[in-house]
Amino acid sequence: MWVAELRFRLIADTKLSMAEQQIRRYLETLIFNGQILGREFPSYQTDDAFCSRVVLPAQDALAKQHHSLLGLAAMEALAQAGLAYPQLSLLGADLMSSHTDPCQVPEYFIVFNHFAENISPVRCAEHFAPVPLYRLQPTGSKQDHEELIRWQLQYQALDEIQMQQDRVVDKSAEKALQGLHSKLNRQGRRFARRIEQQEGKACYYYLYSGSSPDCQAEATKACPSCGAPWRLEQSWHELFQFRCEPCRLVSNIAWDCQ
Ligand SMILES: [Zn+2]
Ligand SMILES: [Zn+2]
Repeated sequence: MWVAELRFRLIADTKLSMAEQQIRRYLETLIFNGQILGREFPSYQTDDAFCSRVVLPAQDALAKQHHSLLGLAAMEALAQAGLAYPQLSLLGADLMSSHTDPCQVPEYFIVFNHFAENISPVRCAEHFAPVPLYRLQPTGSKQDHEELIRWQLQYQALDEIQMQQDRVVDKSAEKALQGLHSKLNRQGRRFARRIEQQEGKACYYYLYSGSSPDCQAEATKACPSCGAPWRLEQSWHELFQFRCEPCRLVSNIAWDCQ
């Protein structure tokens, strides 16, 4: 990931509120197309410009061809608020985040989330590295990835809650994460299926497993979707002990039982 700064130069008289609104609109289109990561963008004003710090999944993430239609429209609309096209300066590699998938075109995918990481919810299944969403066909109704990213935010919020010792909601976060038929996982699997169809490549879905009523039976549990054995001989990516090919599911021995 790369830390960068976007500079929106003032080219006409403008009101602060108008400029701010258009910049916000533009940045939002970048978020929902996977071109910038995270949700907070420290921004400041200089004599002749507005500047925002962003994190990019790849150096070329903001190239024009990676924009969604909404992104291109928002870029054009900057001029109405008296702002020039944004200028990008790369400040350096982000030391705190994981590396983007090196594949130009991954062979297959895993939909996987973790509360602590501000990265794409789609990983290359070979390298287990995040794939920038703008490299995939749009998964959402607005020809971008807004629905997928909104789903990921909810997943991460639940994951965050169930990680806490002193949970503010009892088991319900874990149930949503762990239950194959929870709304969260039904939606997640729908995204995985869409990616598989659109990219023409297998896309697995990671089913979280935190606790189990019977740790003895964990190692030999069956696929919760089809009931077939799905235990792998060796852990995959040192994380998954289970994989069901027809159901496109991967999972682990419940964390509490490891
Ligand atoms: Zn890869
Ligand atoms: Zn299965």
